[in-house]
Amino acid sequence: MDEKTREVIADLKSYLEYLKGMGIEALPMSEKLSEKGFASSVPPVTAGTLEEIRNDLGDCRRCKLQQLRKTVVFGEGNPKATLMFVGEGPGYDEDVQGRPFVGKAGQLLTKIIQSIGLQREDVYIANIIKCRPPQNRNPEPDEIEACHPFVLRQIQAIRPKIICALGTFATQTLLKTGAKITALRGKLFDLDGIKVIPTYHPAYLLRNPEKKRETWEDMKQILALLQENETRDQPFDSST
Ligand code: URA
Repeated sequence: MDEKTREVIADLKSYLEYLKGMGIEALPMSEKLSEKGFASSVPPVTAGTLEEIRNDLGDCRRCKLQQLRKTVVFGEGNPKATLMFVGEGPGYDEDVQGRPFVGKAGQLLTKIIQSIGLQREDVYIANIIKCRPPQNRNPEPDEIEACHPFVLRQIQAIRPKIICALGTFATQTLLKTGAKITALRGKLFDLDGIKVIPTYHPAYLLRNPEKKRETWEDMKQILALLQENETRDQPFDSST
């Protein structure tokens, strides 16, 4: 097999894995194949509602994090949010309470959300992995692989206008890149038609408060994009 064919197969494989992550497990067949009687009668599976995704996750045993975690931290917020935050994974407080971003970093995230005139209830907050790694170590590849489909399905169910990826880990996982957060923050990316803006993780900001100014710039950009969309969504006023 030549290099080009190998590349095409690798790309196709990664695209199919991406679709699977989005909850799409069957592709409709072409007219020709269905005429020949090969068409599957099973309709393509969609991401489902947040409730269905939560039910599918269940008392998850898909990876080794199940051994020490107390709670599966699914995510919370407005299921119709236009803005979604994606963090790394639960820490101690989140594991105890079963809610994302409720510890010190979470309190800072709440302030960041409020800084653009929103409340936590207005947005949706989730993590790439749903269970706390022991001693808050970085998630390992097999753990990400097991959990990644669920955040992709959450994104698909909510279809926010903007995702704010918090920190290196969420950004690299969502954007499938190895680039550093310092190079990516404040830039605009696309994930299946949804705008993604990476910024620093609140835990990093607690350790490096001088970086808060850059996150504030990123939040202003997010607010401007949300307002731009709002204006575009206004119905046409025929009286003017
Ligand atoms: N850090 C994260 O990335 N997520 C949480 O839920 C809490 C802390």
